Amino acid sequence: MSNNETRWQDLPLGGVIPTPGNAVEYDTGGWRAFRPVINWEKTPTQKACSRCLTCWLYCPESAMLVVEGEFKGVDLDHCKGCGICVQVCPSRCITMFPESQFAAQGEGREGQPAEATR
Ligand code: SF4
Ligand code: SF4
Repeated sequence: MSNNETRWQDLPLGGVIPTPGNAVEYDTGGWRAFRPVINWEKTPTQKACSRCLTCWLYCPESAMLVVEGEFKGVDLDHCKGCGICVQVCPSRCITMFPESQFAAQGEGREGQPAEATR
């Protein structure tokens, strides 16, 4: 065992979480089985994102990124792939893709499957 590993003896008594809001420190995106992909450009079959931020309001993980007032899309380090954003998006411009599809293409967090770019 390396010296950097946390052992059960190192956990706080009762497993309490001593500091609030610390979920941001963890890479919870690794739990995701499906990845939301936002359609930024209008296509014959799908509307484009209108930047209404409804998804930002409803995402339970605060994984919809707004930086300096601009909507930047999904924070894949923290999105758990619940699909709530797909359900609430009034433009229906978010599609969930199996995470395995990105891995099969050798793409990391930034990639999109071929269907998403049509
Ligand atoms: S899939 Fe869930 S966690 Fe991920 S961005 Fe959408 S609402 Fe947030
Ligand atoms: S809810 Fe849909 S249209 Fe609105 S900002 Fe999110 S992705 Fe874009």
